[in-house]
Amino acid sequence: MAIQRPKGTQDIIPGTVEKWHYLEAHIRKICSEFGYQEIRTPVFESTELFQRGVGDTTDIVNKEMYTFLDKGQRSITLRPEMTASVCRAYVENKLFTQPQPVKLYYLGPMFRYENTQAGRFRQFHQFGAEVLGGEDPLVDAEVIQLIWEFYRRIGLQGLEVHINSVGCPVCRAEHRDRLHSYLQDRKAELCQDCQSRYERNPMRILDCKNRECQRITANVPTTLDTLCDSCREHFAKVQQYLRISGIQYRINPKLVRGLDYYQKTAFEVMAEGIGAQSAICGGGRYDGLVEEIGGPSTPGIGFAMGMERILAVLEKQRIDVDDETDHKVVVAALGDIAREKGFKLITELRQNGISAQMDLLGRGLKSQMKYADRVHARYVIIIGEEELNKNIAIIRDMKLGDQTEIAMDSVKSYIFNQINHSEAGI
Ligand code: ATP
Ligand code: MG
Repeated sequence: MAIQRPKGTQDIIPGTVEKWHYLEAHIRKICSEFGYQEIRTPVFESTELFQRGVGDTTDIVNKEMYTFLDKGQRSITLRPEMTASVCRAYVENKLFTQPQPVKLYYLGPMFRYENTQAGRFRQFHQFGAEVLGGEDPLVDAEVIQLIWEFYRRIGLQGLEVHINSVGCPVCRAEHRDRLHSYLQDRKAELCQDCQSRYERNPMRILDCKNRECQRITANVPTTLDTLCDSCREHFAKVQQYLRISGIQYRINPKLVRGLDYYQKTAFEVMAEGIGAQSAICGGGRYDGLVEEIGGPSTPGIGFAMGMERILAVLEKQRIDVDDETDHKVVVAALGDIAREKGFKLITELRQNGISAQMDLLGRGLKSQMKYADRVHARYVIIIGEEELNKNIAIIRDMKLGDQTEIAMDSVKSYIFNQINHSEAGI
């Protein structure tokens, strides 16, 4: 039997990869405009990094990690997310000695052992950003603005930003107490996970996807009820900045993310019409994390978005992606001498940055024309026996459907002119 790819993984093949290029190009451009620099970290890390950096009360660490012992008996984990790695790299490379805040972005594959379904994979890709060393609410707003502007540029519609504040260690202690007493009598009705959350990280019960738990927690005290003055002020300021930049948001008091060192702002972006996996981006402030993994006390905030889910929304909303294949030249040549002339021609076109190719299988002229059509060639340069004798080539413009005879010596400059003109929009 033919070998198949592992469950929860995907091949990104031509026809689809162009959409990835489109997103990646937008990502690199907007990040550079907003002053974010790219960071690349290893795909695998010490397991301990995620135990400490993501936290052992989370689903990610408890259930979803790809963890194994390497040949040196070290426990290694394929990264399930990037925030912990970025914070580790910030400390390890002493990025705290650079002008603060340090604004970083990343793109790459993540690995989670999940129950696979539409929009939920075991290898998936994230675009994310982290800002380390800035605690001002303006940073929170800037990060959300980057996300919003990115979605605007790629043309996504019907998005909603949900925000919340989960408070800080001071005011969360009060929330924890209130939540404990509220749920005390109903603890046994919660799902297994929530019963353990009740002891270890009760705030996360608000985030449970189990229907019964959601029913029980419909009217629980939220972190917003108990915010301290400083957290309240921070949250108000974030909203003020969001209004200034014209971002529509909704306060969702049930939105909680992460662990004890997650603080203040939490947010998610939801998209219509892609089914149950409607969160296309999630993020928040994590002022205690860098310290948790052994660095100096440093405020931080970031987000991550699933590339596959963005592509699903693009598809759903039928948004066209730029066609990279415009201007492609195909040389259709018949016979040995014509093929040599053709090969010289594509060499020169390629040296000038023009996408050009020719038949590699020695097919007949007719099937070379068919091939040119299938690869969406804009121009086909035809050199058959007759053209050779007359020392000309026929250039067919596939888009306009017309063709011209051009002297062999002028073919190159003719193509240059055509392409320059159409690039200038003439
Ligand atoms: P969910 O509630 O959907 O499991 P999450 O809270 O685990 O999401 P994060 O860890 O915040 O997700 O990751 C940020 C983004 O990465 C999500 O909003 C989603 O777009 C994407 N994402 C997360 N897990 C997967 C997955 N298994 N497959 C595809 N995309 C994913
Ligand atoms: Mg998840």
